[in-house]
Amino acid sequence: MSNHLSTIAKIPMVDLVSQYQRLRSEIDPAIQEVLDTAHYIKGPIVSAFEQELASYMNCKHVIACANGTDALQIALMALGLKPGDEVIVPAFTYVATAEVIALLGLTPVMVDVDPNDFCVRAEHIESAITDKTKAIVPVHLFGQGSEMEAILALAKEKGIYIVEDNAQAIGAEFYLSDGSVKKLGTIGDIGTTSFFPSKNLGCFGDGGALFTNDDDLAEKIRMIANHGQSKTYYHDVVGCNSRLDAVQAAVLRVKLRHLDDFAARRQAVADYYDQAFESVEWLDIPYRNADSSHVFHQYTLKIKNGKRDTLRIQLKEEAIAHNVYYPVPLYKQKAFAGYWDAEKKLRTTEALCDMVLSLPIHTEMRAEVMERVVEGVKKFRI
Ligand SMILES: *Cc1c(COP(=O)(O)O)cnc(C)c1O
Repeated sequence: MSNHLSTIAKIPMVDLVSQYQRLRSEIDPAIQEVLDTAHYIKGPIVSAFEQELASYMNCKHVIACANGTDALQIALMALGLKPGDEVIVPAFTYVATAEVIALLGLTPVMVDVDPNDFCVRAEHIESAITDKTKAIVPVHLFGQGSEMEAILALAKEKGIYIVEDNAQAIGAEFYLSDGSVKKLGTIGDIGTTSFFPSKNLGCFGDGGALFTNDDDLAEKIRMIANHGQSKTYYHDVVGCNSRLDAVQAAVLRVKLRHLDDFAARRQAVADYYDQAFESVEWLDIPYRNADSSHVFHQYTLKIKNGKRDTLRIQLKEEAIAHNVYYPVPLYKQKAFAGYWDAEKKLRTTEALCDMVLSLPIHTEMRAEVMERVVEGVKKFRI
């Protein structure tokens, strides 16, 4: 059967090939330098990247590691949490956030999120705090900040740690009420991020990093990420092998110089979509927090009237990529059944899992591609 769609190029969620081609004249020599020196693990290029990222984040210590999931695990290890300790996480997030908690024998306590910005609020956290609560992991979902000031005040009052999962919001700023500005990921005790290729600052493989302004924590983190080693072949604590390799660091040094431009390009796409969709009554455009910038790791609509999955079928016919982040609350995942009373439901999380739809957004989107996405969505009739 003939199908006119076979002649239309599919619109992808991200376009890493075009980004590489645009930056190739900077990236290729950076990788070549690693090959020429054969200093593949740790070494001067990784250190230089850590320093440049620390300077960009305005943060005292950056410790690179193997991926964003390890970064979360190492953060919890560095805080000295013990089996049985409870760690509060949003139920609406990527699995990694809760996974590492369970893996360390800690107890993930999943809480609901805000229906507008999809992040945890201090009130959700407060109602879940027990005398076993040791830490909270706010996730700055899709590229903007959780309400960090209220969360910070609560954590201070209760004496619990904050680990910010900043895998999706690197580069975003948080505006404090005293007029100061901090980068998301540098507000809590420790912040973590991921350099997975499709993240806002992505490398050509796996990578991650931790941020902290605390000298003692920084030293522990560095040790844990490198076999608990204080000097070569002397192991003070049980650690893991989680290092960034120099090829990734070389790519990241180049891309870091473009990170603000990447954010601006993503914001321009988001602004275009916002304008196009503002008047469509069967959807909500992304809410933007007043106290944080938004770097749009994802552009996520809420589709009303239970029509999300019907719209998905149409977008598929139109060859427009789209995705649902996330289709299932964490507590409904089989892996976490043991941490949840099956009768219990978190209202907003469940509603969001049925409503959210993320559209293509990246640094290389051409006008005609954005137009096609908008047309494809607007064509939809309920
Ligand atoms: C991507 C991501 C992670 C994990 O990062 P990896 O580098 O893939 O291990 C953790 N948390 C969130 C919110 C993420 O989006």
